[in-house]
Amino acid sequence: MTDPRRRVPRTDALLADPRLAEAARVLGRTLVKTVIADAQQRARAGDITPEHVADHAVAALPSAAASLRPVINATGVVVHTNLGRAPLSRAAVDAVVTAGGATDVEFDLATGLRARRGRGALAALARAVPTAGGVHVVNNNAAALLLAAMTLASGREIVISRGELIEIGDGFRIPELLESTGARIREVGTTNRTHLRDYADAIGPDTGFVLKVHPSNYHVTGFTKAVSITELARLDAPLVVDIGSGLLTPHPVLPDEPDATTALRAGADLVTASGDKLLGGPQAGLLFGTADLIERLRRHPAARALRVDKLTLAALEATLVGPPTPVERALTADLADLRERAQRLATQLPDAQAVDCVAAVGGGGAPEVTLPSAGVSLPESFAAALRAGTPPVVGRVESGRCVLDLRTVDPEEDARLLEAISRCT
Ligand SMILES: *Cc1c(COP(=O)(O)O)cnc(C)c1O
Repeated sequence: MTDPRRRVPRTDALLADPRLAEAARVLGRTLVKTVIADAQQRARAGDITPEHVADHAVAALPSAAASLRPVINATGVVVHTNLGRAPLSRAAVDAVVTAGGATDVEFDLATGLRARRGRGALAALARAVPTAGGVHVVNNNAAALLLAAMTLASGREIVISRGELIEIGDGFRIPELLESTGARIREVGTTNRTHLRDYADAIGPDTGFVLKVHPSNYHVTGFTKAVSITELARLDAPLVVDIGSGLLTPHPVLPDEPDATTALRAGADLVTASGDKLLGGPQAGLLFGTADLIERLRRHPAARALRVDKLTLAALEATLVGPPTPVERALTADLADLRERAQRLATQLPDAQAVDCVAAVGGGGAPEVTLPSAGVSLPESFAAALRAGTPPVVGRVESGRCVLDLRTVDPEEDARLLEAISRCT
């Protein structure tokens, strides 16, 4: 009897299989060869028969060339950091696809000359926050703070309250980021209380700017005092405010969350924010401020290293002018509708119950806000099975049950969610 290992088909023979040839065209030869090599290895190890190598390779083909997979977020955490923060709206996704090709991002089709990069997105941002004298977009909010520190405080001091020296997540600390630019942090006040005179006493010829940071991911209660933007604006130093979440105007569901328009009206010279938290757009750092400050930031040599890609500009513009984002829809979803959806799903599934639950804003934002919600409760064992499915569904485990919170699931995804759960029963 011949050694089955010698009957394992060769790579070129497998690549000639029409299914694998088509996959090589769509996904690339390198990726398909990796999949083929795995299948051949399994045949050599005796896990599969040599005759089935092609079938196994076909079954193991990924559906796309990139390894990132679409996931149904049923965690109830609206801006889920580990699931990529804000999911883009359909309009923003379409804009990204269009901008993926050659596009007039920096070109004027009428004159044939170079044009201002991302002018459509910048104009949309300026229209969304008319109080701002100028706007600028960088890679993320961390980059916005970096650019502000490099431009306004290199070799100088940034005056900040001890209560606002915060760590955002994954070990990222705002004071360390600022110091990396060569600026010095001048801490004022105490952890729980900082007064206007603490700031006033620290301001001098070495001051680059005063920084107010929204402590987005925690909440101090009790004997506390912070100084308002209005008061800080009266001091004799530029005032930079990091609002974090990216709301452009006040939000009815999140009354304590700061927004760019209110911060500027209160007297901030520069406001920084993220694009992919509550704004519901792509990862970006948004800067709003006086025209001359924004111009100085734009002209800093490092601005080029922090600039955003055309895909980001496209998604940002579509987020700003397009229909309500998935984040906005999740925040404002009506509880009665959520309960009805939960009921409808639960009646179609053997082990499921419709339950009330509590969703959260997430993304390090509004930690004290809870959003009443509804979902489907399943036995705990479903959690792992659902994550392993296609599409993967991520729920949360609560008191020994797997709860799928519908506030973060688009109603249009209910049918796919139902199929995904049914496959696990
Ligand atoms: C999230 C956050 C940041 C960091 O923003 P990125 O866009 O992730 O860089 C900075 N400051 C505050 C207050 C935040 O909430």
